[in-house]
Amino acid sequence: QGALYLVGTPIGNLEDMSYRAIRILQEADLIAAEDTRNTVKLSNHFDINTPFMSYHEHNIEVGGRKILELLAQGKTVALVSDAGMPCISDPGADIAEKAIAEGYAVIPVPGPNAAISALVASGISAQPFLFYGFLDRQKKKRRVQLESLRNRQETLLFYEAPHRLKETLRALEEQFGPDRRITLARELTKRYEEFIRGTIEEALDWAESTEIRGEFCLVVEGSAEAEAQEEEWWSELSAVEHVQQLMEQ
Ligand code: SAM
Repeated sequence: QGALYLVGTPIGNLEDMSYRAIRILQEADLIAAEDTRNTVKLSNHFDINTPFMSYHEHNIEVGGRKILELLAQGKTVALVSDAGMPCISDPGADIAEKAIAEGYAVIPVPGPNAAISALVASGISAQPFLFYGFLDRQKKKRRVQLESLRNRQETLLFYEAPHRLKETLRALEEQFGPDRRITLARELTKRYEEFIRGTIEEALDWAESTEIRGEFCLVVEGSAEAEAQEEEWWSELSAVEHVQQLMEQ
């Protein structure tokens, strides 16, 4: 019976590779890899001699068909992304859904994830949280996305490319105000790992006075507004009821 393994790989520090991930990659018939150069490095380091194919956002259809053919032959395929967990702002969800629909086993092999690592060290409430991933690059679309998030009470998790960090922090300040707490988690698990904890305004000051390099996750405190809005709604409702009662009298 064919099986698809979704295997977590390090987000920077090779020591985070799990024993199970190594074994599954060694034993699989094929590794489907987002970035084969990265998989070569990983394979060399952990003595993995499994053949691999590329599976990334530009060959999802063709690559997906190939994976399903192998599963139909009873083979095991291990899917890895460039870093961290497949499917999390990375390819994987599409083929997982198709494999499940065709009745194959889809098995997670948990490993590092940048958002969860950032969240636990952020100093901001870890639940409930909302993982958003990347905001849209287009200003207008990003504004609409942030407007829809403004009153969410959950802690918000974003990924962002270094060259867009300042712009995103400005957009956050515009939509959420300067005072919300935020943690920028930089270069997690790597040599220059760093946490910038403060308000959105302080994070923006930091970003504007630094040469921004490396990978970043953003952890933003949820809104306290939703509760206030709910209270307002209830008091509006009771005002309407009051008027109705007066009219009935
Ligand atoms: N699948 C990955 C995971 O499970 O975390 C995420 C892949 S996504 C394409 C890449 C983004 O994740 C980066 O742009 C950055 O926002 C975040 N990221 C990945 N590695 C990171 C690290 N070591 N430190 C901080 N952020 C990281």
